[in-house]
Amino acid sequence: MDKKTVNILGADYTIETDEEILKDGADGICHPYSNRIRIRPKENMLGDGDTKEEKEKCYKETLSHECIHAYFRESGLYSYMKDEVLVDWIATQFPKMEKTFRELDIL
Ligand SMILES: [Zn+2]
Repeated sequence: MDKKTVNILGADYTIETDEEILKDGADGICHPYSNRIRIRPKENMLGDGDTKEEKEKCYKETLSHECIHAYFRESGLYSYMKDEVLVDWIATQFPKMEKTFRELDIL
């Protein structure tokens, strides 16, 4: 199992690449009460017919999504933390928002 650590609003979260996550039926899972994010290995994302680029994109979107769960947890916004639609919206739109802010030089 591959592990790395990321700091989210002052709390260290372990990012664990985990083959066993397949048993839970998810690509990624945030465990906010133990500061862990488990994620399927990049090469195991999607299906056999999907390209390396598609798997890479899915991996990044999944990891972003799980980090947003952690951000809400560390903010004390527990109902938002559990809101999959909101979490997914932020994870999906954040790169576009960042691009807008960079274009406007407001970061
Ligand atoms: Zn989620």
